[in-house]
Amino acid sequence: MPTDFIRTRTLFHLPEGVVYLDGNSLGPLPLAAQARVAGVMMREWGEQLIRAWNSADWMTMPRRVGDRIARLIGAEPGSVVMGDTLSIKVFQAVAAATGFVPERKVILSDDGNFPSDLYMVQGLVKALGNGFVLKVVAPDEVEAAIDDSVAVLMLTEVDYRTGRLHDMRTLTAKAHAAGCMTVWDLAHSAGALAVELARAGADFAIGCTYKYLNGGPGAPAFIYVAPRHAERATPILSGWLGHEAPFAFEPVYRPGRGIERMRVGTPPILALAVLDAALDAWDGVDLQDIRRVSMALGDRFVNEVEARCPGLVLASPRQAALRGSHVSFRHPEGYAIMQALVARGVIGDFRAPDVIRFGFAPLYIGDAEVLRAVAILEDVVKKRLWDEDVYRKKASVT
Ligand SMILES: *Cc1c(COP(=O)(O)O)cnc(C)c1O
Repeated sequence: MPTDFIRTRTLFHLPEGVVYLDGNSLGPLPLAAQARVAGVMMREWGEQLIRAWNSADWMTMPRRVGDRIARLIGAEPGSVVMGDTLSIKVFQAVAAATGFVPERKVILSDDGNFPSDLYMVQGLVKALGNGFVLKVVAPDEVEAAIDDSVAVLMLTEVDYRTGRLHDMRTLTAKAHAAGCMTVWDLAHSAGALAVELARAGADFAIGCTYKYLNGGPGAPAFIYVAPRHAERATPILSGWLGHEAPFAFEPVYRPGRGIERMRVGTPPILALAVLDAALDAWDGVDLQDIRRVSMALGDRFVNEVEARCPGLVLASPRQAALRGSHVSFRHPEGYAIMQALVARGVIGDFRAPDVIRFGFAPLYIGDAEVLRAVAILEDVVKKRLWDEDVYRKKASVT
């Protein structure tokens, strides 16, 4: 079993002196991206101008990149398309899912979900009117709350704070047995776990590509619709590029074929070019290997931190199989501790009120980085190096 992905590590720009444990929030720069974007800019946009929509196949890029992602999330070819941001995709997917069970009005989620997912559904419920409600329960109460009143079960597989993992297969089966549709958010799963959407029977899935997939800040999101539903899903965001014949310029919307209908407007070609370059790093990589290594790295980190860093309380499940690819600890001075770490080159992040997170992305992180991070964290905690005003000053982005 490889403990280090030596080939893939060289594909990233990793600044000297930095241990980067925040790829779960923003992946590092893939070295291939710069040349790829420069090529698209000069050879395609620069030289071809508007002709590039055809000559460089820009128009099919959301599907072509979607197919590369499909492989990483266990989805059928032709079932994933790129565009917009994850928040928009949440809205789209949940709205489309409700259309399959018109007599039901409850959208069920949990309070560990990322706020934007809940906010988007709050907005959707308002827009739909007609008695729709969002019901939010504790993560461990989700299974019991699935019943025949629920239209859509909307869950994020990996909790952004604690890393707690929902069992996609079991919950999807339970939802289906009760006649509910499922929407899975893979924000912290894609590129971290061996996701098996098709095998789990998931109905809809969505995710972003700037986290473990390293597509760069604001990289386009993806949406998956199970092929059995794709011709029947009604798009709530009925933009022209999701139309059956965008260039017929008809006055009335008709949904496009299959997953195409989940497109909305003009695709972000430069951003897709960066993402496409980033996805090269995954060629030949087996997600099972990634998962095995990240579990080992996470275990190592947890064991070392608990042995050497008093006062930090594990916020993640102790068993690697029950968490995603990041590990979190609680500490009342978590924010200052993280700032002190960042100042010493160990980059993780902080989530209010008291959680510090460390992500382990085996494409470019190995044992050496884990040990170095723990050594610095031990120093920061034991010598109270965090106890300085400058580390308590909150930045706007944490
Ligand atoms: C990162 C993340 C988001 C962010 O949504 P954007 O629209 O890309 O800003 C949403 N949901 C979850 C679960 C996330 O982890």
